[in-house]
Amino acid sequence: MKYDVIIGLEVHVQLKTKSKMFCRCSASVWKAQPNSHTCPVCLGLPGALPVANEEAVREALKIGLALNCQLLNRAKFDRKHYFYPDLSKGYQISQYDLPFCVNGWLEVDGSRIGVTRSHLEEDTGKLVHDDKNSLIDFNRSGIPLMEVVSEPDIRSPQEARLYAQKIQQIVRYLGVSDADMERGSLRVDANVSLQKPGKWKVEDGKVLGVVNNELNPKVEIKNMNSFRSIERALTYEIERQLQLFEKEEKLSQETRGWVEAKGITVKQRSKEFAPDYRYFPEPDLPPFVFKNSYFEVIKKEIPELPDQKINRFYHDYALEIKEAEIVTATKELADWFEGAVKAYAQTEKEGTTYDHIDSWKVKLIYNWVSGELLRRINELQVPLGEVKVTPAQLAELLYLIDKGEISSTIAKEVFAEMFKTGLDAKKIVEEKGLKQVSDEIQLREAVREVINLNPKPVADIAVGKKEAKGFLIGQIMKMTSGRANPGLVNKILEEELG
Ligand SMILES: [Zn+2]
Repeated sequence: MKYDVIIGLEVHVQLKTKSKMFCRCSASVWKAQPNSHTCPVCLGLPGALPVANEEAVREALKIGLALNCQLLNRAKFDRKHYFYPDLSKGYQISQYDLPFCVNGWLEVDGSRIGVTRSHLEEDTGKLVHDDKNSLIDFNRSGIPLMEVVSEPDIRSPQEARLYAQKIQQIVRYLGVSDADMERGSLRVDANVSLQKPGKWKVEDGKVLGVVNNELNPKVEIKNMNSFRSIERALTYEIERQLQLFEKEEKLSQETRGWVEAKGITVKQRSKEFAPDYRYFPEPDLPPFVFKNSYFEVIKKEIPELPDQKINRFYHDYALEIKEAEIVTATKELADWFEGAVKAYAQTEKEGTTYDHIDSWKVKLIYNWVSGELLRRINELQVPLGEVKVTPAQLAELLYLIDKGEISSTIAKEVFAEMFKTGLDAKKIVEEKGLKQVSDEIQLREAVREVINLNPKPVADIAVGKKEAKGFLIGQIMKMTSGRANPGLVNKILEEELG
């Protein structure tokens, strides 16, 4: 390609605190009656005074730590002035030159993406448009919002999607946000430009033209409502810019909106001049002075994060990286998987505590979790939290296979029933009479009967057509409703056929 693709993302994460950022209003406003969660502070009425929500500050610091940021000992809130109907005060309380977190990074698919800064601000109200009117809902106004600004280190639309997904995964692991793009608790804006190789460099998060200041303008894209649309919008925009350059037309610095239905970006406003927000320190909120000991306390509250978990599963359980990524997709799934591993190790030793498990057994659990469990979860769209089967129950089911009480095929049938009812495997096997038949006399009868009923395949085997044997085994399995012990069937069949 004749150009380098330069992408930077701004990710907004709504924090899941009980109350809003600067007032006592509840922050759980999803589907609430419009303007029912408001007060003089979040409506921006004159004379109302903000008080910072400590929990939001803690969560903001946690996000910073999880993104490998440096936390600043001195931080403050500032007023960012601009006019828009959803911002009744005429300014937004945000952070300008002393944000909570700076200079972080995130590893995405092997490359390190810099995080310039991460700051806390208040969300704005929401405009709702119909055919004739524009309505304002201030429920969202004042909800704590974390903005994570990346360095222009992202080089492809796919990498942009992965980066945003990773931020979602991390804040969910931290339990500080639902980070749901459809509900708007995770919002992503992208900046993209195409630069000639060798003519640009990055300094302090800004792309600089190094040869005669020759730099192509960047375009900001908004309105991307899913991870897929991030990738699609950027792909479209890169192609659009490329075509303009090919035709030697001028590209202007502007903000464009992604139109999902049409699969295109359209111009929203020109950005030739950087707006002057007249930032100044928020006079109603004192600046923050953090001791390092406070940061240490917050650090201890951070759970094991996805990358650490993947690493541990790789080393302790000998899972492949790809496999570890699948079972650590969410913290809940990782806990479920590990719960099953530990329970399985315990069933084996009947009551002893977990210390070691063979890697082939972990692999078996992995296969069941990534196969039977996740398949059903995706098919039926049930969240893991509502799944009736417990990790210990899966372990018990696998133990029944180990002991030869049921076959793997029957186990799948049993699992389906467990998923539906939440009953123990043992109970289902007993009630449905699914126990494996390992009684030699009973099996020999079945084998003889199948041989008598199928003279043609028997004759085929005699002349060396081995496929015919598979057919006979299938018939025996059918006759025993799949419950025959396969090893034993094979042995008896060999004997009977001579
Ligand atoms: Zn309020």
